[in-house]
Amino acid sequence: MTRRSALMIDPVSADETRADYSDTFTLVDAAAPALSVGELSTQRGDGVFESIGVVDGHPQEVVPHLERLAHSARLCDLPAPNQAQWHQAVEAAAAQCGAGEAVIKLILSRGVEHGPTPTAWATTAPAADFRSAREGGVRVVTLDRGYDLGAAERAPWLLLGAKTLSYAVNMAAIREAHRRGADDAIFLSSDGFVLEAPTASLILRFGDRFVTPEPNGGILHGTTQLSVYEHLAAQGFEVGYDRIPASDLPRADAAWLVSSVRLAAPITAVDDAALPVDAELTADLNRYLLSPRD
Ligand code: PLP
Repeated sequence: MTRRSALMIDPVSADETRADYSDTFTLVDAAAPALSVGELSTQRGDGVFESIGVVDGHPQEVVPHLERLAHSARLCDLPAPNQAQWHQAVEAAAAQCGAGEAVIKLILSRGVEHGPTPTAWATTAPAADFRSAREGGVRVVTLDRGYDLGAAERAPWLLLGAKTLSYAVNMAAIREAHRRGADDAIFLSSDGFVLEAPTASLILRFGDRFVTPEPNGGILHGTTQLSVYEHLAAQGFEVGYDRIPASDLPRADAAWLVSSVRLAAPITAVDDAALPVDAELTADLNRYLLSPRD
């Protein structure tokens, strides 16, 4: 069983190299207060994060998550995380995770207003039970994100390709999906292309070709999507990135929302139009995603 825990991290410079960073993080009581009221993560959502799936104590795909943390930090003008330090912090957090599924969250915030350094911490918690989404699937609705495909490049201050702490919009989209009788949402660009879900990437199947929206800055490049692509390519399937018009969605032979903790959830309907579900392939994907992956 996984303990809820928190590890406060004292971030060191990305240039620093040493073998052991264990004196730069401290395990604290997860239920005790740990952040200052001046924290810009809580005041402004000013920071970046990652959620890493853990299976039987093994943190999945740590390097891709740390690379994306660094990418998000760069987009937000936050100091580059020291990869070795964060890797060791993830291992220390994983040591708090027992049998079954858990989640490690990594947070790098702007820190305290006018303070000298960013604030960083990691948490562990048991994962929710996602069996019903993995086996029974999810109904989705499409929602306009309000930006066209060129917005990320034209207006980088929108931080569209960064995994920032400002997830209020993503959570609002999921509530809107629930109001419309669905489980989840797929964002569309204002010029009519498919993007991603509020907390997951989208993979579509057309015959033996799998396709996902190009991660061109407007969406997050999902670590799970990358991992699923490796698995599918090893089985001889064609995988690729494309601009996908929204009108292609109901034509798919199958579709999944994929993410680090829920893993692969087959889409059963888009805007009330039923989509075929490939139960066998879905089970294979989730078996693969639950196996130890580095
Ligand atoms: N897109 C968004 C907006 C997300 O929040 C997430 C995960 O939280 C993903 C995609 C999927 O990323 P990953 O597979 O790395 O969990």
